Amino acid sequence: MPLDTSRVLDSELIRKYLPRGRTIEELEQELEPVIKQELKGRIKALLKEKDAVLVAHYYVSADLQELAAETGGFTSDSLDMARFGHEHPASTLAVAGVRFMGETAKILNPEKKVLMPDLEATCSLDLGCPAEDFAAFCDEHPDRTVVVYANTSAEVKARSDWMVTSSIAEKVVAHLHEKGKKILWAPDKYLGDYVQRKTGADLLSWDGACVVHEEFKAQALKDMRIEDPEAGVLVHPESPRGIIEQADFVGSTTQLIQAARDLPHKKFIVATDRGIFHRMRQAAPGKIFIPAPIAGETVDCIACAHCPWMAMNGLQNLTRALETGENEIHVDPQVGRRARIAVERMLEFSRSLRK
Ligand code: SF4
Repeated sequence: MPLDTSRVLDSELIRKYLPRGRTIEELEQELEPVIKQELKGRIKALLKEKDAVLVAHYYVSADLQELAAETGGFTSDSLDMARFGHEHPASTLAVAGVRFMGETAKILNPEKKVLMPDLEATCSLDLGCPAEDFAAFCDEHPDRTVVVYANTSAEVKARSDWMVTSSIAEKVVAHLHEKGKKILWAPDKYLGDYVQRKTGADLLSWDGACVVHEEFKAQALKDMRIEDPEAGVLVHPESPRGIIEQADFVGSTTQLIQAARDLPHKKFIVATDRGIFHRMRQAAPGKIFIPAPIAGETVDCIACAHCPWMAMNGLQNLTRALETGENEIHVDPQVGRRARIAVERMLEFSRSLRK
């Protein structure tokens, strides 16, 4: 797969945007249960009062995921979060996740208010694909159909032909490849590499990576499997090729949860954010889940199998956002209209697959 390596993301840039000190998720783990209950009660009341619904990602804390379930909200991957927010009648969407998820919600629902616990919660893929640089990359390759991953800014989506999530990327690229299209892919080089190998498409990729998945180590995983040969290996395709090659199953977060339930293994090594374990334990009670090996717990790893930006979501800042209306997501209407074409194209394609 050809790769545009001229724009490798400087890890200093990632560090600049990392939350300082302990994340709100870590701090909230120490809250007394009674305080958590009070906060949850307050959020439940605010959701009703503000005609809001909570939409959460699998990587946020178990408290937020449970709260979404208890209040008629939803926890899922970014594709289904977008679908749910779009179809739900609430006038306000409270999105617990990272910024591009709030922006996608706003793109699809410009008439709704979209609130997030912390607007600084970003993503290394989004950070590593600035809109201006990306536009220049597209201009250099006008013959290619531009397919971007959901983990991008509204401006990058507006420059694309298609937006995809990991659950549908392979199908969309296969569809375009069948039609003889050449693809310009951004920003995740590992997902791009995986999709290219699965489909055989002519795919030129941007050089971005997820800070969580990139840290999984292939040799250490091999060693782990030798020690524990009965364990199944579940891998998200944002992981490097050496990790994907060892997988019993590769898929999006929702697909990985289904695989955890359906595969016969009693134990799994999981190469994705460990926030997903909450839902995996619910889907497959009694099974054991352990994170795939990373560079090191404190010295070398930035994310250490848990997204530092997802961990900026908590009960306290969600309460504040609902109380004050702060942290509202705004997308330039013109940008939003253009981005919506790419997002709708994916949703329409996904509907056609379900028919
Ligand atoms: S886990 Fe990776 S892809 Fe997901 S939001 Fe965090 S940095 Fe981005």
